[in-house]
Amino acid sequence: MNYIEFLENLDKKLGEYFNTQKKFIHCKLGCSACCEKGDYPLSKIELEYLMQGYISLNNETKVQVQNNIKKIETGGACPFLINKKCSIYPYRPIICRVHGLAYICKDNTVKLPFCVNNGKNYADVYENGEITINPVLDNLDTQNVLKDFDFGEIRNLVDWLEKY
Ligand code: SF4
Repeated sequence: MNYIEFLENLDKKLGEYFNTQKKFIHCKLGCSACCEKGDYPLSKIELEYLMQGYISLNNETKVQVQNNIKKIETGGACPFLINKKCSIYPYRPIICRVHGLAYICKDNTVKLPFCVNNGKNYADVYENGEITINPVLDNLDTQNVLKDFDFGEIRNLVDWLEKY
């Protein structure tokens, strides 16, 4: 299976997960908090696909992204976020696709979206640092999601972009 087919299947599966968890999900158009602060770790295969998205942008958006890249900081906004929307949405990395869900990791800990602390996803079922409902019982960490691919090194977006 190539990476594009793989993403189509992944998006279907994630759509079902978001649907089963919808009572606890408050993601909506115009909320870009998860793209405004972060490290956005991604693998080489994801970076190459993301760059295809960048190449497909119109010139004006490319300039906006380039200007954002000049100002990029560790833990800061993603340079592909333009007017509170992801400019390369179909090409976005795995971490962006799974963000918003609570899921189980390999050591049986539960990964929660950071917006639980901002009164958003899962905030209604969050007590003493834990959620009181079952998370998605699938490890959605990038390494696990991409385990059937030779995905290459994983680095933070800022570190990859320093090379461009
Ligand atoms: S690539 Fe898109 S979805 Fe991912 S953090 Fe950047 S703007 Fe947000």
